[in-house]
Amino acid sequence: MQENFDIRSNRITEREREFENALRPLSFDDFSGQEKIVENLRIFTQAARMRGESLDHVLLHGPPGLGKTTLSNIIANELNVSFKITSGPVLDKPGDLAGLLTSLETNDVLFIDEIHRLSPIVEEYLYSAMEDYRIDIMIDKGPSARSIQLDLNPFTLIGATTRSGLLTSPLRARFGINCHFEYYDNKIIKQIIMRSARLLYVNCSDEASTEIAGRSRGTPRIANALLRRVRDFAQVKGNGAIDLEIAKYALEALNIDRYGLDEIDNKILTTIIDKFSGGPVGLTTIATALGEDAGTLEEVYEPFLIKEGFLKRTPRGREVTELAYKHLGKIRFGKNVEELF
Ligand code: ADP
Repeated sequence: MQENFDIRSNRITEREREFENALRPLSFDDFSGQEKIVENLRIFTQAARMRGESLDHVLLHGPPGLGKTTLSNIIANELNVSFKITSGPVLDKPGDLAGLLTSLETNDVLFIDEIHRLSPIVEEYLYSAMEDYRIDIMIDKGPSARSIQLDLNPFTLIGATTRSGLLTSPLRARFGINCHFEYYDNKIIKQIIMRSARLLYVNCSDEASTEIAGRSRGTPRIANALLRRVRDFAQVKGNGAIDLEIAKYALEALNIDRYGLDEIDNKILTTIIDKFSGGPVGLTTIATALGEDAGTLEEVYEPFLIKEGFLKRTPRGREVTELAYKHLGKIRFGKNVEELF
C-alpha cells in the first residue's frame, strides 16, 4: 500500500524518473487518451507553426501522473523548438527566472511544474514576461538602485498544476489555452501498458495487462510503475513473461488494492464511514478529521473516488456509496463486519 502511495505522489526517485523518461511518448500520435485536449493542441501548434509565431501560453491542470509533463514535451517537439523545464518551488528569486527567460530562443517552450507554488515576487515578474516579452530587473540597492529593462524572445510558457484552485486570477488570466486532465479509462491504460511492455521488451499477455490496468488508479504513472514491478516478479518467479497468474501474484504481494485505491483514498472512505456514519458530511470537516488540506482533497483525491463510484457529492456534503462499504468490508451504521459475529 505504501508502495502504491509513493508511486502516485510526485515524490519519485531518480531511477523512477529515468524509467519514466524512457517510456515518455514523444509525439501526439504516441500519446493515448485525453483526446479533446490533444485534438485542440494539434490545431493550435500547427497554426502557430504555420504563422511562425509562438504558441499561446498553456495551463495544464489535473492530478499527478496523468501526462502533463509528457504532453508539454510533445508540444515543444511538435513546434520543433527547445524545451526548458523548471518548477515553482525552485524559482525562488526573480534572478533565477530572469536567467531562464533570457536564455530562451525564439518560440521556445518554458515548462513550469507546480506553478501554483511560485513565490509572489517571481509571479509578478512573470506577468510582463508573459504579456510583453520583457522584464524589469532592479540592480543595485539603496540610492543607486535602478531598474533595467530586458527584452525577451517570444516564448510559450506551459504551467502545470495539481491545484488550479490556488492560482491567482492575474496569473490564470494570462494563459490563452487552458486544459484539464481527466483520469484515463482502463482501456486506454491497458494500451499504455502494452506500449510500455513493448518498449521494455517484455512479453505481457492481454489478460495480464487488463489486470494491471484495473489496479492503476486511471493513472499512466502508476500503470508504468506497476508494470515494472510485475516484470521483476516475472523474472524471478517465472520465465520473464507476464501472464495473468504472475500479474495477480505480484499485485497481491505488492499489496495493491483491487480497485487501485491507495492509502489516502481508503483513509478518506474509512473516515467518512467510521466517524460520520457514511455522510453526508462537509468537505472541510472531512479534511480536518484527516489532517489534510480541503483543496487538495477536493482537487487531487476526490475526483477519482467520485469517478469510480465510491463517493457522491450531495447538496449536504460528501457521502460514501454502497460500493465503498462493500470494498472496505463494512456495513452501514459504521459496524465492522467482524463485529456482527
Ligand atoms: P504529470 O506531469 O501529469 O505528473 P507525467 O507527464 O510525468 O505526469 O507522466 C508520468 C508518466 O506516465 C510518464 O512516464 C509518461 O511516460 C506516462 N504517461 C503519461 N501520460 C501518458 C499517455 N497519455 N500515454 C502514454 N504514457 C503516458
